[in-house]
Amino acid sequence: MNRSANSILILGNPGSRRATEARSFLDSSAELKNLGTEVVWENIFETDRVEARPDRVLIVGGDGTVRLAVNWLQQQDWQCPVAIIPAGTGNNLCKGLGFPLDLEQSLKIALHGEGSRSIDTISISADGEDWGQMLQITSTGLPAKVTHRFDRWRKFPLIKHPVRWLGDSFYRLLALQTLLMETRRNRSARIIIDGEELETFGPAVFVANEATIGGGFTPCPKANLSDGLLDLCVLPKVSYFEAFSLFREISAGRHLDRFPEVVYRQGREVTLIQESHPVLVDGDVLGAPEVLELRVVPAGLQLITD
Ligand SMILES: [Mg+2]
Repeated sequence: MNRSANSILILGNPGSRRATEARSFLDSSAELKNLGTEVVWENIFETDRVEARPDRVLIVGGDGTVRLAVNWLQQQDWQCPVAIIPAGTGNNLCKGLGFPLDLEQSLKIALHGEGSRSIDTISISADGEDWGQMLQITSTGLPAKVTHRFDRWRKFPLIKHPVRWLGDSFYRLLALQTLLMETRRNRSARIIIDGEELETFGPAVFVANEATIGGGFTPCPKANLSDGLLDLCVLPKVSYFEAFSLFREISAGRHLDRFPEVVYRQGREVTLIQESHPVLVDGDVLGAPEVLELRVVPAGLQLITD
């Protein structure tokens, strides 16, 4: 890959506090100033102003911003090398890839990295509508409820600061509360993975490219971002008391051994048919479809590495 970049496009979400802080850091960085290259900043929601294909793209933000930016690049049909400057709440993708979370180190790699790493992406359609690509994990069931509650608390005056500070710990507390208190914890679904049909009943279904989800959970411990496969995990119906244990084991990614009722498969295509229920894609609820179709796109994204 040719690393001599003549134009750099930086995509970020100006509405995000962390991304704005990262932008201030980047703007004052001598590394970027001394580059002698055209650098253009664009709001991820106003990309219609970008006309020419850049030589490399820096995405400044969290997992949601990365997903939006990758989808936009694919719509342009631009195969640009991409670097992530982690500036989100979870930064799960960077954590999963073992990329540095430090702004200075990330910027160095983004500007001068000589290596590249291909990762798979997963294309999703919901009730026949194209939802584009996801990079990490899609889930339905309790995780969508937990995230909805977490997002509500995160915007609540007075509470939002301690919630931000507690981050994963607060998310985990909400997850435990939801798992224990939810009156309708379990839902049935019909899932078809590479032609195999499964009838499932439980609190959550995960389809993953990457092992983890926010809050320090590892629902798909066998997932690998570059193996050309997606991983399916369906949590089983559990009693009130077993819920504590399940919660602990998913945190450590040990639930496959400890709960033999867990359904776990790897494949290339998944169709999930459910009663309309919110679906969480890379940390954002995108809708509440009845039919979800997911297909792995091997090596769908090229990332810049050191
Ligand atoms: Mg995989």
